[in-house]
Amino acid sequence: MSADPRLSDHERALYARQIRLPGVGEAGQLRLRDAKVLILGAGGLGSPVGLYLAAAGVGHLGIADPDKVEVSNLHRQIVHGFDTLGLPKTISAAEALGEINPGLKVALHPEGFTVENAAALVARYDLVVDGTDNFATRFLAADACVLGGRPLVHGSVLRDSGQVGVFLPKSGCYRCLYPAIPDAASVPTCADAGVFGATCGVIGSWMASEVIAILLGRRTAPRLLLVDVAAGSTRLLALSADPACPACGKAPSIRSLEKTAYAPPACPTPFPMSAAPLEITVEEASRLLAGPTPPVLIDVREPDEFAVCRIEGARLVPMNTVAARLAEIPQDRPVLVQCHHGGRSMKVTQFLRAKGFAQVSNLQGGIEAWSLRVDPKVPRY
Ligand SMILES: [Zn+2]
Repeated sequence: MSADPRLSDHERALYARQIRLPGVGEAGQLRLRDAKVLILGAGGLGSPVGLYLAAAGVGHLGIADPDKVEVSNLHRQIVHGFDTLGLPKTISAAEALGEINPGLKVALHPEGFTVENAAALVARYDLVVDGTDNFATRFLAADACVLGGRPLVHGSVLRDSGQVGVFLPKSGCYRCLYPAIPDAASVPTCADAGVFGATCGVIGSWMASEVIAILLGRRTAPRLLLVDVAAGSTRLLALSADPACPACGKAPSIRSLEKTAYAPPACPTPFPMSAAPLEITVEEASRLLAGPTPPVLIDVREPDEFAVCRIEGARLVPMNTVAARLAEIPQDRPVLVQCHHGGRSMKVTQFLRAKGFAQVSNLQGGIEAWSLRVDPKVPRY
């Protein structure tokens, strides 16, 4: 806690437009001032996260990043500049953040976020925000936050899409969504992937908004936002805890951070690469299913729902059986996953992609949208 329980006149002037927002006020601004946030990665996502948290008056920021600023970073890592090329990113970022908020206290962790320091670092902060670009660190952050009882805001980007996950203690975690680190073989090389800097800005700004919302006590449930800038679409999914989760489930297998559990893949990247779109509209699905090489349609609803209605040709694989029935899902042809409204099937789609099934897509809107827009003979329920 800060020694001074009130805002100074300077702080009131500086944050006047924010303090007047509903749910903020002087009390909210004080909460932000007293908060300690650990930022993992001072890169494309960490840049906007750090800049907006500093500008919003979050009082204590930790920056963990072992890298130095390179010229190829600058198109997206806007906290750095030509004048800091070659410097450790922690120092470069701290200089920029200090200019935005001279009262900010910044702790530098140039050793990065490692198995050795993860638990101690997490314990020092109220919240962790992960903008790193590799699966090993991402899973390490997720597990360290579960074990340390800290909220985690996760973000990732690829090309012109990305996602933001909000995970709160005792209400599900990153591994509920992605149980295991993907195989290196399912991960593309760095040269294959690319990203627009502005997309990092979109996702990073959203991450900062979520951090502030958590600090102000405005988030009570975990959620996942999917953003496709090219399509101009966003999708917000409510997340639920998985009782079988290896990190936060009823009988967790992850009880400590072990070095061997976070072997980095061959090359860091946000997602397993897939040429297939993450989601397909019911109109497009109808066209594909009637085409010469139709996708395999997997219905992940429960048997009683399947009995009410189904899309012709769909195979029933209820969501809670998918992990045990992976062998039934083809890897060599397109797969379309479907449920009632598209929520459960999105979770399965993400799960299968993390398992290396690159050609899996979600049917947007599920069988409800199919009934409304493609085949009204399919009953709704
Ligand atoms: Zn979990």
